Amino acid sequence: MVRLVVFIALIWGAWHLLKKLARVYFSSFDTPQGRESGDEAELIQDPQCGAYFMKTKGVKGVIDGQPVYFCSRECYDRYRESRNAK
Ligand SMILES: [Zn+2]
Repeated sequence: MVRLVVFIALIWGAWHLLKKLARVYFSSFDTPQGRESGDEAELIQDPQCGAYFMKTKGVKGVIDGQPVYFCSRECYDRYRESRNAK
């Protein structure tokens, strides 16, 4: 019976330690640096194929002086071609 109490106390302690660690981890997102990295992980839509992808994983192109992000180099080329064809 004593063992069971010790076991429950250990679980309880571990749970509270986890919650404390989680708070420290999530509070790091409140820092300006955390917000910046959160912005980079933003999901954006490819204007060519309509797929959603991580901004950092995409291909950055410049259309009419504006930065535009594509899921792949192929979509970027297709988008430019379709604009040039008009
Ligand atoms: Zn695409």
